[in-house]
Amino acid sequence: MNRSADVVVIGAGILGCAIAFELSKRDHDVIVVDKLPTAGYGSTSNSCAIVRFHYSTYDGVALSHESAQAWFDWPGYCGVEDERGFAEYLRCGSLVLKSAIRDYSKYRTQFERVGVRYEELGLDELEERFPYLDLGDHGPPRAPDDPDFDEPAERDLVGAIFTPDAGYVSDPQLATHNLMRAAEHRGCEFIFDAEITAIPTSTGRVAGVELAGGHRIHAPVVVNVAGPHSFVINRMAGVIDDMTITTRALRHEVHHLPSPPGLDFNSVGTTVSDSGNGVYVRPEIGNHILVGGEDPECDPKTWVDDPDVFDRELSRSVFEAQVFRLAKRIPDLGIPDRPKGVVDLYDVTDDWIPIYDRSTLPGFYMAVGTSGNQFKNASGVGHLMAELILAVESGHDHDSDPVEVRMPYTGLELDLGFYSRNREMNPDSTYTVLG
Ligand SMILES: Cc1cc2nc3c(=O)[nH]c(=O)nc-3n(C[C@H](O)[C@H](O)[C@H](O)COP(=O)(O)OP(=O)(O)OC[C@H]3O[C@@H](n4cnc5c(N)ncnc54)[C@H](O)[C@@H]3O)c2cc1C
Repeated sequence: MNRSADVVVIGAGILGCAIAFELSKRDHDVIVVDKLPTAGYGSTSNSCAIVRFHYSTYDGVALSHESAQAWFDWPGYCGVEDERGFAEYLRCGSLVLKSAIRDYSKYRTQFERVGVRYEELGLDELEERFPYLDLGDHGPPRAPDDPDFDEPAERDLVGAIFTPDAGYVSDPQLATHNLMRAAEHRGCEFIFDAEITAIPTSTGRVAGVELAGGHRIHAPVVVNVAGPHSFVINRMAGVIDDMTITTRALRHEVHHLPSPPGLDFNSVGTTVSDSGNGVYVRPEIGNHILVGGEDPECDPKTWVDDPDVFDRELSRSVFEAQVFRLAKRIPDLGIPDRPKGVVDLYDVTDDWIPIYDRSTLPGFYMAVGTSGNQFKNASGVGHLMAELILAVESGHDHDSDPVEVRMPYTGLELDLGFYSRNREMNPDSTYTVLG
């Protein structure tokens, strides 16, 4: 049956649900469509859900600081009960270990400017507070088959920056379900097991979406929040050729392993960013440690042409690269015989900074290219996309005069030109998952 709405959101991941919630709060009649059976079953389901503030740009730090405020009172942000309960925010802090291979001074400058709480830690304090960490500077990261891989560190770390309010969300799929319930409470409708196969247009603007089977949902506004499928949807809408920055899918593995004997990492652990070793770490339920890669140059990248077809098996080579490097940092770590963990896709832009923007097709918007680091920003992205859509639909020329948005918790002003599809590649980005 054909339907109509003010807005169709393509994708019920954490960002699609947040955008739908924020638009519904603003009295828009919203329908969210997803080809999977329920909310948060796409790449969101395998997210490490780390909430951190160390981004290389002011905008990155500001958006994560703003969005964290919603995680601090998640049921309050959602404003409605969920029969499944709420995802929890575990405020374990985040430790950025400073290797001599990088300059970390930008973090401190941005934290001061934005208002993120932080502590600079010297080696003595690091040893006292995190006695299970080796304090050698192992940088630059090396592949396990590099002849120098096992060479001992020649120097110590420079120190560390600790942000006590960072942490992680216990269950990213549940958090997305919470947002779905919040959006439904505001009148939003969700349609699952429905694949969008075409983006129809009429008189020079988007006219809605077409589903497999031929049904249509008519709408003057459509938002592409399709995660790693973002380029497929952009191709359907015919907007890719008019974008300077584009997106593509990148395979990513995360490995889970038990904490060393005697270490209760769930209780005393923190998230760790270890650029010298090219890995990041997070405590995981069951006294496990979760480790992923920070995309160091020595690690090959597996770009995926078809996001429906990729190898979902963990690989020995990535397991060894990540786990052997972690064992340099946590020397008592036991190395399991067999890899355990998850494989999923990042939706990566050319400069690893997302695109939150309109397009050349009037009425067609996108929140894409989240580059492995935007789960944490759900509430902030929901707000800024809703404000962007309201402004552009009211006649604002965002391409020549970028919309500025005041964020609700912190009052910080964000210039949305930063996230433009037509920006120059951002020279301040790390060109990795760190953003
Ligand atoms: C392994 C991994 C670890 C990560 N760790 C972190 C982290 O620690 N911290 C952090 O902040 N971020 C992290 N991220 C990134 C974060 O998870 C993503 O940025 C975020 O989940 C993206 O949400 P989304 O809603 O845009 O996309 P998704 O969750 O992928 O949702 C997109 C939805 O669109 C639907 N869809 C696609 N095509 C169609 C179609 N044609 N018709 C209908 N529906 C369609 C899909 O079914 C899917 O449900 C990680 C990502 C991965 C993969």
